[in-house]
Amino acid sequence: MIVMKFGGTSVGGAGRIRGVVGIIKSKLPSEPVVVVSALSGVTDSLIALGKASAARIDTSRMLEQVIRLHYDVIGRLGLDSKIIGSETEQLRKLVEDIYMLRELTPRYLDHLMSFGERMSARIVAAYMLRAGIPACAYDAYDIGMVTTPNFGDADLLPGTYSEIGKLLSGRKGMVPVITGFIGKSADGSITTLGRGGSDYTASIIGAAIGAEEIQIWTDVDGIMTADPKIVKTARSIETVSYNEATELAMLGAKVLHPKTILPAVENNIPVRILNTFNPSQKGTLVLGNGVGSKVTSITYKKHVVAISITATGKNRTDGFVEKVLGIFDARGIEVDLVSNSRIGVSVIIDEEDETQNLIDDLKRMGSVKSRKNSARVSLVGSDLSDILDDMYSSLKSIHIEMMTPDASGKNKSMLMGERYVNSAVKKLHTTFFSG
Ligand code: ADP
Ligand code: ASP
Ligand code: MG
Repeated sequence: MIVMKFGGTSVGGAGRIRGVVGIIKSKLPSEPVVVVSALSGVTDSLIALGKASAARIDTSRMLEQVIRLHYDVIGRLGLDSKIIGSETEQLRKLVEDIYMLRELTPRYLDHLMSFGERMSARIVAAYMLRAGIPACAYDAYDIGMVTTPNFGDADLLPGTYSEIGKLLSGRKGMVPVITGFIGKSADGSITTLGRGGSDYTASIIGAAIGAEEIQIWTDVDGIMTADPKIVKTARSIETVSYNEATELAMLGAKVLHPKTILPAVENNIPVRILNTFNPSQKGTLVLGNGVGSKVTSITYKKHVVAISITATGKNRTDGFVEKVLGIFDARGIEVDLVSNSRIGVSVIIDEEDETQNLIDDLKRMGSVKSRKNSARVSLVGSDLSDILDDMYSSLKSIHIEMMTPDASGKNKSMLMGERYVNSAVKKLHTTFFSG
């Protein structure tokens, strides 16, 4: 058995869905279980729709556009439009409710986003049937995906793996097409696993059924030496270790959701990242140990804010740093790239986590400076102990504002203005991959 997950661009339109179904057909002897994302751009459109509705803006055109996109694909694939009839009706009703409520709560937002995957799974399964492959669409929560009620960032509840394994067994040649990204909490509310979370769904299902391989089918040739959208000459990496892949994902490489690797490691299942647009390419294999190149890949994260807090008055005491970090912790805000002295601490956080409330709380500890439009650029590899000279000389013209202390030797991150990111990634790529 294998799991095959297809991301948004892989199911972006009728032509692409035909291609995907061709790929699935070629793997039938491996007994695939398919996981799909929403059609390309749909999750973003649903979020925009929800925000506009809550703001009491007339969203009828936006809503019809999202629905029409799906019906167009259904028409082009020659399918029956009834397959998403119930979902579109529920979606219309939900948007109305949000309008009435004047608020997009996290619970409503997750419910709203779930329609993307629910519609795409039904379309892909119906087209598989049409192409002669026995298939059936499932909403992940109907095959046992039970999560915490953490809307927007839900995680699995114990027992989920065995439940999914049980419900997916004995399917005799039928290919399940399961919604990525979504689950339900124990009280029956729809939840999501975080943006890009369909990769995580795939590895959860892989672990639950004891798959031989978890395949993440996307729009590039695997994990590459840098984001190919920035570096045209980026190369695909043949093998990376579980650790490196997790590190890269956590440091911003969008190709893989950061939680994808753990269920695979725990069950010793290789993860392969493949390109739907170039299916004969070998892609990247993620498994126990990579080849251990010095620098494996360069990654980045935009839309971060750097906040520096310097202790004033009676706060100039030993526990200052812990107290400041406690303020972020109490709000569930992840901090990154921490640099500190006894009376000062600098951190970076996601742009969306910076609220006036947070800043007000921090101001009680000292003077606060916040630098917006910042970004983190990171090198990931197996041994970064002697790369500093090359790194600094390639970035001579760029002002580096902060640098990670060299804790693990496996990654090196630096903070800079967002406008320098593309040029920094390109320069570092030229230095470490000569091209
Ligand atoms: P999907 O819709 O298939 O889940 P994503 O858009 O989430 O695809 O992830 C694939 C994208 O990740 C690529 O198009 C690429 O721009 C981006 N990316 C960022 N860093 C890397 C990297 N190191 N290797 C490959 N792709 C990367
Ligand atoms: N559709 C969801 C998103 O856009 C999940 C995914 O694509 O993995 O974040
Ligand atoms: Mg993705």
